[in-house]
Amino acid sequence: MKRNPLESFACPRCGDIGSLTTKAVNGRSYFYMKHYLGKDENGRSKYKYCYLGPVDEYLYVSKTTHPREAIPLTNMANLVRDLEYLIALSNFITQNASALANAIRRSKRYYLVDETIKAVEEASQALKMLSEMFEEEKMIEEI
Ligand SMILES: [Zn+2]
Repeated sequence: MKRNPLESFACPRCGDIGSLTTKAVNGRSYFYMKHYLGKDENGRSKYKYCYLGPVDEYLYVSKTTHPREAIPLTNMANLVRDLEYLIALSNFITQNASALANAIRRSKRYYLVDETIKAVEEASQALKMLSEMFEEEKMIEEI
């Protein structure tokens, strides 16, 4: 197990604090969160590992299953991947609105347009709150 010098943070899988590590198996690298559990009866440190996904396989998956959308699928070690997915998908929809209209007509799933608008508006409100929070944090740091 190779140690990554990144500092400790909450594990995206279990929520416990740990540190990001990579492990090579059969020539491929995988991300794990390493959680310290204390010492065993022999005084050796015990750890729990949470699997977060392969380091480099997602690029292949992205290109084969989402070639049009160009969504950069990534592993759980990327803690802001949700926002990266949303940006990629929003850009795709913006640039392909007429093709999307045709797809909706073919599928006859017209309700998806209103459902998507509602979800995006709610996400937009949540992100605006985050933006205001970060602005306040920046102002406090500057004082
Ligand atoms: Zn974990």
